[in-house]
Amino acid sequence: VHTLGERVSDWDDQRVAYAAKNVNSGSRHFDGKRRVNVMLVSGSQPMPCDKPKGDFFILKTLKNKVDYCSLHSIDIFYNMAQLNTRMQKFWSKLPLLHTLMLSHPDVEWFWWMDSDAFFTDMKFELPIEKYANYNMVVHGWYKDVYEDKNWVGLNTGSFLIRNCQWSLDLLDAWAPYGQSGKAQVAAGRLFANYLHGRLAFEGDDQSALVYLLISQRQKWAEKTFLESTYFLHGYWVILVDDFEKMMERYHPGLGDERWPFVTHFVGCKPCHGNYGSYPMDRCAKQMERAFNFADNQVLQTYGYVHPNLSTHSVEVDTPKATNVGREKVRG
Ligand code: UDP
Ligand code: MN
Repeated sequence: VHTLGERVSDWDDQRVAYAAKNVNSGSRHFDGKRRVNVMLVSGSQPMPCDKPKGDFFILKTLKNKVDYCSLHSIDIFYNMAQLNTRMQKFWSKLPLLHTLMLSHPDVEWFWWMDSDAFFTDMKFELPIEKYANYNMVVHGWYKDVYEDKNWVGLNTGSFLIRNCQWSLDLLDAWAPYGQSGKAQVAAGRLFANYLHGRLAFEGDDQSALVYLLISQRQKWAEKTFLESTYFLHGYWVILVDDFEKMMERYHPGLGDERWPFVTHFVGCKPCHGNYGSYPMDRCAKQMERAFNFADNQVLQTYGYVHPNLSTHSVEVDTPKATNVGREKVRG
């Protein structure tokens, strides 16, 4: 028995059979074209946070995801259950994705997003056709992964994985490094030796993916797309100070450094403040700003806006007089 339970080896055939039997399930547009089914998946621990405001931040990141998904008709599944006692914390996404794949043969892509990541461009959409020949899409860079063997050459806080046999096999190959106890400790040492810039802390899913891509390159690399033309994952430290500049100069829908798609609070631990790599007050302040930056894009459709990014209060959104004037001149 594998880490993730009984092995399934004919999943592609099973999905084809399912699709044949369910031609009228919601997988088509009104015009009869096949719709690519995407499900956003996220989750957080089953217990309350240690930090008093941790659950409030988790609620805000969840509201932000719900908003994005309803705007773009994407299904969302949020998990708070411990599905596999041997794979905990950041590893829990693996058994979760495995379970969801087998229960949703109609879903083509699963999109994992960490609880500590916000959508900051509510208009941008995944260029899903671009990934037709791939089974996994991760934010990262070819050189950093394959040449520099850097453990931060990609980020597993927001990635796409296709519902297919290849992905089930990848999850089976990936999972053993995350089994709590000896295996995870040994994995941590292995990654520290093998990967650039990584210390010998317990095995993490990100290092494990980098390790697999390099050490079993012929198996996994060809179908894994490293995306860097927009922020499928965006490191918060390089983005949050520029929100005002972005609002002045640009507009939602760009997804890149002009208006980042996702802002991920890597190393901030709003739930367990003490393990973080950044001071909690800096994290809290910037998470609030990222939330409000995104929330403005939602509220403005209802005629409201946060007067600045640091306040939860709102006011009626009156289009700036100068802008109106300019429009009139042009008209
Ligand atoms: N997570 C989960 N269940 C848990 C603990 C964590 O689903 O019991 C998820 C949660 O979405 C979290 C992710 O695992 O965002 C990865 O952990 P974290 O964001 O703390 O890691 P970092 O991005 O800081 O490296
Ligand atoms: Mn994270």
